[in-house]
Amino acid sequence: MNELELMNLAFKENNKKYFDQLKKSDLHNHALLGSNRKVFNEFFPTYHLSHFETSNNIKSLSLFIKNNIILLSKTKEGQIKLFECTILTAINDGITQLDISVDYRNAIYMYKHFNDYVKDLKKLKDKYKQQIKINYDLGISRESFEIEHESTIINLIKSKIFNGIDLYGDELSKPIDLFVKIYQTAQKFELCRKAHVGEFGTAQDIYIAIKLLHLNTIQHGIAIISDQQIMRYAKEKNIQFNICPTSNILLSRITDIKNHPIKEMFNFGLKVTINTDDQLIFERSLFDEYMLLYSNKVFNIEELNIIRINSLS
Ligand SMILES: [Zn+2]
Repeated sequence: MNELELMNLAFKENNKKYFDQLKKSDLHNHALLGSNRKVFNEFFPTYHLSHFETSNNIKSLSLFIKNNIILLSKTKEGQIKLFECTILTAINDGITQLDISVDYRNAIYMYKHFNDYVKDLKKLKDKYKQQIKINYDLGISRESFEIEHESTIINLIKSKIFNGIDLYGDELSKPIDLFVKIYQTAQKFELCRKAHVGEFGTAQDIYIAIKLLHLNTIQHGIAIISDQQIMRYAKEKNIQFNICPTSNILLSRITDIKNHPIKEMFNFGLKVTINTDDQLIFERSLFDEYMLLYSNKVFNIEELNIIRINSLS
């Protein structure tokens, strides 16, 4: 069966097993929160995890994480176990390339030396290297960042364990120019430069972030559709947008999936990909995300196949 036939069967029959056989990437995935509940329950059988309710702000998401997940991630063993759950989820779903962000703060608060964190990450990557291509993104929480953390972040960039860098969390919490030096180093070391912008912020925020941080990838960025000029700018710069539809719904970034900005962005010629963000919270696999866009007639199967293939390059 060729790839398009598998795509047809997967979506016309709403059957994940066909999609599992296809090459695909999940490029916007936070390692601490990327597991599905099945794998999570195998690793933490006695732990009760509640369900996230729709909200309209990032603070409620942070609060949910604080109340439900932080307890498990207070030690380096707990952190690594959660990362492993995310990797196993991706392997079970037939993901061929997984970009996962792992937070720099672990290196400061959990390890005596930043290099011990690097060693643990390498060990985990090596353990699964036959089954999946893992790219680590160095995660920076925008609200938790302090200027005295900068040297550790720069040391982590220089360690070469990371393929990318990703600024996340509350995009309205701290000014973007605080991160210029870090992103300059990331560029020097040829890391993919990602940031969460234009999710709660505006198209103008996206423009400024691209310019100041020399981004090549935006996480979400759906606010861009309000400004054609900035869309043209992002197209010229060949910026990739890693979009997570269910995350946008549950955080009330969109009111109706049928009108999700991803369609307009795709039609405009922007490079878009479909991803899961935080499966442990949003409870949707990559197949569910594609299916959601298909069943609501946002994309047909040919278009979804183009997006799947584009996300592999
Ligand atoms: Zn995210």
